[in-house]
Amino acid sequence: MTRFTVFCGSSMGESPVHAAIAEELGRELAGAGVGLVYGGGNVGLMGVVADAALGAGGEVIGVIPRALVDRELAHEGCTELHVTANMHERKALMAELATGFIALPGGIGTMEELFEVWTWGQLGWHMKPCALLNVHGYYDGLITFLDTMVEQGFLRQEHRDMLIVTDRVADLLDLLADYIPPQTSKWIEREDL
Ligand code: AMP
Repeated sequence: MTRFTVFCGSSMGESPVHAAIAEELGRELAGAGVGLVYGGGNVGLMGVVADAALGAGGEVIGVIPRALVDRELAHEGCTELHVTANMHERKALMAELATGFIALPGGIGTMEELFEVWTWGQLGWHMKPCALLNVHGYYDGLITFLDTMVEQGFLRQEHRDMLIVTDRVADLLDLLADYIPPQTSKWIEREDL
């Protein structure tokens, strides 16, 4: 079954557009029969995307570390809720359960999660697509910096191109389905994998 892990803010953000897009994504996933894996909380955009997917009849798997069960208000309505011993176990399980990854607007927690799975992809440890939903230009500054990394010789163009970037939820599922992983990992040629 196709399941996407969605990384997103534990805050709502200033503009209501962020919650609207999170809601649209939750509905879109459920409508397409795609399962949602997420941080298991009921706060911020996390709660919005989960509620929207559940409301549209979708499968929602929450994964939350024990220490955040109260702080991020573990969602009682998830199809499955996994409570992990720590953050590392949470991220490992979220990575394992998903066939791809989507980042919505969020803070440093969201960035850390996205960059980790993208880095693992760059190393050739998985072939799953990573996407950034650039709602109303929220990530424009980050995208510019990624291009600086390429220009300055710290990131290969083909690894930069692994990250799917779009501002439209409607395009997201097709882009993820069409993803082709790069032919080389950062250190190893494809034949050696
Ligand atoms: P944020 O984007 O900072 O609002 O956080 C979004 C999600 O990332 C929340 O579920 C946080 O629990 C999670 N998070 C926060 N810090 C970290 C971290 N160091 N590593 C992984 N996830 C984190």
